[in-house]
Formats: sequence, C-alpha cells, structure tokens
Amino acid sequence: RTVLRELTEIMIKNPDISPSEALPGSDPSVFHKRYLKKMRDLGEGHFGKVTLYLYDPANDGTGERVAVKALKQEGGHVHEGWMKEIEILKSLYHSNIVKYKGCCTELGGQVVQLIMEYLPLGSLREYLPKRKLGVPQCLLFAQQICQGMDYLHSKRYIHRDLAARNVLVENDSLVKIGDFGLTKYIPEGEIYYRVREDGDSPVFWYAIECLKESKFSFSSDIWSFGITLYEILTCCDHRQSPPTKFFEMMGNVQGQMTVMGLIKLLEKQRRLPCPRECPHEVNMLMQQCWHAEPSERPSFKCLTERIDAIRQ
Ligand code: ADP
Ligand code: MG
Repeated sequence: RTVLRELTEIMIKNPDISPSEALPGSDPSVFHKRYLKKMRDLGEGHFGKVTLYLYDPANDGTGERVAVKALKQEGGHVHEGWMKEIEILKSLYHSNIVKYKGCCTELGGQVVQLIMEYLPLGSLREYLPKRKLGVPQCLLFAQQICQGMDYLHSKRYIHRDLAARNVLVENDSLVKIGDFGLTKYIPEGEIYYRVREDGDSPVFWYAIECLKESKFSFSSDIWSFGITLYEILTCCDHRQSPPTKFFEMMGNVQGQMTVMGLIKLLEKQRRLPCPRECPHEVNMLMQQCWHAEPSERPSFKCLTERIDAIRQ
C-alpha cells in the first residue's frame, strides 16, 4: 500500500508522467495486435487503408468495434508524415472531429496503426448517394463541418484535404471530419504553407493560389469547404462531381494539362454551377468561398453564422 501511495504522490507531483507509464500494460491507448479481429474493409484513399476490427481482449466477442488506419506502403519519408498525422489527431478534441483512440505497434517493428472510433455510416461519399437529403439536413452537416474546421484553424492547423470523402457520418444528424493526412501547422505570424507535390493532389478541391503557387492557407481550406458543400448539395452524385464538371468545362483536357486547364478556367472566373434545388443564398455562400482573392473569402466562424441565419 505504501508503494501505491508513493506512486500516487509521484504522479501528482509529475502530472506529465501518465499512469500508463507508471503502470505498464494498462494504457488504454495501447492496442495489442493479437486482440484485433478483422471484420471488414472500410475504405481507402491515396495514402491509407482503413479496416473495421473488433478489439476483443476477453476473446468472447464482447469487445468494441474500432476503425484501424494503416499506411498503404511504408517507407522512410512517408513514415514521417504518418507519425505527424497520428500526433495531430491525438491532439484534437472536438465533437465534429473523429476521435483518436490509440495506436498498435507491431512487435519490435515501427509499423504503427492508428486506432480511431468507428463511424458506422462511412464517409459522406458512401452515405449521401443512398439517401437524398433535404436542404435543411445538408445545411446541418455543412455547419458541423464549419465548427470542426473552425476548431482546427483555432489550433493553427490547415487541413488541405477537406472533401466529402474525408467527412465521416455517425448518424443522420452528426458528421465528423476525418483524415488529417495532409494537415499542416501554420506558425504564429505566418499566413501560408508552401508545398510541392506529386500528381496525387486533390486538385479539383484546391484554391486557385494552391494550383498556381502551391500556397496553402486558412483561406484555401475555405475554398475546399465550398467544393465540399457543393458535393453535399449534389448528394455526391458522380455525374455532377467536381472532377466531372470541371473536365466538362475544360473540354476534357487530360493528363499533365489538367492543372493548367483548371487554372485557365478559374482565372476566367468560371466556377462549379449551382446544384439543382440549392437555395440562392447557399449558392452565394459557395461562390464567396471561391473568391479569387483569398482574403475576400469568409472564415469558418463567419460561415457558421451565415448558415445559421439561412437555417432559421
Ligand atoms: P486516406 O488518408 O487514405 O484518404 P482516410 O482516412 O480518408 O484515408 O480513410 C479512407 C476511407 O475509409 C474514408 O473515405 C472512409 O470511407 C473510411 N473511413 C475512414 N475512417 C473511418 C472511420 N473512423 N469509420 C468508418 N469509416 C472510415
Ligand atoms: Mg481520405
């Protein structure tokens, strides 16, 4: 008992030593590979693969369902970004951001899987085409995305990959932002992050300055939100998807010319059309998110209020 009391005292004096480090084996964020039972694949993007597992230490089927994300291919440089993604998600607490649960490290190796809460309805890409939502529900989801994004920006992170495929659905009235694989920290006093990337970038969600100068900022996330809002209002119908529509507008230039064609189009002030049954005010909001001048775009705080006003 004295040992326990001393341990408690040590922990009170050193709040940064977590109980898990003092008592090995009891850290709830450490998931053991042997207790993870695969149920099914959930989805994959460019970098990761997400699988549904039952975490069942009692081995009697009573465990909990968790979503496990692993990198598709491991390799030196990619690995660094992967560890960052895990650290970022670990530091985020918001009702509209997917919850981090822990990690699973393979014995001896450095391969780490990210364990997060499982959202049963998948991403908006899977959810929306099945149920044709009315405008009020679209706006509710849009507002929740704004709230999660406002929180992310308040922590000086830019998401850089906001899209329907990266918004997860808990139930008919709750969505959460997932996938922080491209998220970057913007130091105090700076306004943008410059990246040069390969051909895998989600260019149809990118703001014009991202395409032209690789400048990513809080305002470029606003542009991507506008595209995401467009996806929601078109129920992620692939015939109206941003790539489909932009290719139509560009006259189907493809391959290496795509980004050039897209820049030309956007410079001529061409934008995605107003989705059918989309109220005029909502279309106005979307168009403002796509203002050529980043500083003219609204903030997520402002968007939350504007959507609130439309929802009244
Ligand atoms: P990537 O970084 O490769 O794009 P994501 O994190 O976006 O990977 O996940 C890929 C897909 O897996 C998502 O589009 C979604 O369909 C599914 N998914 C991801 N996380 C979850 C989750 N927590 N619950 C349910 N499905 C998920
Ligand atoms: Mg993704």
